Amino acid sequence: MSSFRVVPIPSEVAEQVRNTGKSPIYGFPAHREVAAGRAPCRHCLRLIRKDEEELLLFTYDPFRELGEPPLPGPVYIHAEECARHSENDVIPEEYRGRLLTLEGYGDDRALVKEIRVRDGDEQRVAEELFSEANIRYVHVRSTEAGCFLFRLERR
Ligand SMILES: [Zn+2]
Repeated sequence: MSSFRVVPIPSEVAEQVRNTGKSPIYGFPAHREVAAGRAPCRHCLRLIRKDEEELLLFTYDPFRELGEPPLPGPVYIHAEECARHSENDVIPEEYRGRLLTLEGYGDDRALVKEIRVRDGDEQRVAEELFSEANIRYVHVRSTEAGCFLFRLERR
């Protein structure tokens, strides 16, 4: 068993964006379109199928439950209802082998350590970060786009 679980955005956030067409907190209009490229959904953590499924693009602060200052940025979710990822302990298939940046945060939102991964090393790097006692959670970002993907929490 690994030392962490994968945490997607809350269902409450996805529902709010779908119901209002706006970004929670910020109120900017969410943009809806058919996926035109690689678009990972932050709720089910699957890819939104290109040229087939619609996405909603909105502004989200991945620190909203965790502290200040916020760091709002663009994220995608499926425009239609999807099942929230089950919070298991494995980096989802769709993200393995990608260029990811794992950021380990400690108390008071302090960035303790950041590691850029490639070549499918993400599970080991996540374990390495959680081996540091002062890291409480890890944000996983796309290294190329910089966007927040999901959080890892200590089990
Ligand atoms: Zn989804």
